[in-house]
Amino acid sequence: MNYLDYLRTDKFPHFWCSGCGNGIVLCAIARAFEELDLTLENTVVVTGIGCWGKADDYVRTNSFHGTHGRALAFATGIKLANPSLNVVVLMGDGDGITIGGNHFIHAARRNVDVTAILVNNFNYGMTGGQYSGTTPEERITTTSRYGHIEEGFDICAVAKAAGARYVARASTENPQQLKNLIRDGIKKQGFACIEAISPCPTHFGRNNGMRSPAALMRWVNENSVTPAQAVAMSEEELAGKLVMGLICDRPGEDYSTKYQHVIEKAQSEVKK
Ligand code: SF4
Repeated sequence: MNYLDYLRTDKFPHFWCSGCGNGIVLCAIARAFEELDLTLENTVVVTGIGCWGKADDYVRTNSFHGTHGRALAFATGIKLANPSLNVVVLMGDGDGITIGGNHFIHAARRNVDVTAILVNNFNYGMTGGQYSGTTPEERITTTSRYGHIEEGFDICAVAKAAGARYVARASTENPQQLKNLIRDGIKKQGFACIEAISPCPTHFGRNNGMRSPAALMRWVNENSVTPAQAVAMSEEELAGKLVMGLICDRPGEDYSTKYQHVIEKAQSEVKK
């Protein structure tokens, strides 16, 4: 399979704005599928709501378009019903970590064997650029015209603290790194979270003096550090920085495997 075989190119051009990073993330996912030689039949893409939630329109794998913030709940059910499936969950920051924050924390804690790809553009793009749970403090959005007064979530820090087995971050400016991290996250048995930093020039960029995607990516680059650089930095120096790359990769039996042990124990009790 070629990466284009995973995409419904007959549906193009996609509906995303010019300069939006969503298309780059979708391409990175298709290329990761190609490298892993995934079959269409054994792969399910689950989405929530929002600009990125439209991505299931453009894949040829099985797909499920869920409700706002609940994509991980549907994905958990799909994985438990058929653990042999590759379940890839696509969520935005508003969908996945804000409205769906509770589902996110508990899917990571349970170690459900799904790959969550969170596209973070720091605001609710589809509904007009309101602030989300990742909007940085002091940034302007349509609901924080004088500067946001809350601190934004660090998605990867939340995922790691909640127990995710594989946590990584890349930006759309480095699609090769993004593709590699997505590929390794899918290979990982257990909950994998890959955060993709992606520009929303239409709202977040325009509201914050970075109208062009290039200006947005410059801002991301200026605030990015590698995991090796982060180790040498103090907490104050790291404030507001984005650590790009693999952040954690740890072992642990996934939820479906443990659940299978429970089924076997129960069945042996019945036989006694
Ligand atoms: Fe992308 Fe923002 Fe346009 Fe949505 S509103 S498609 S996130 S640029």
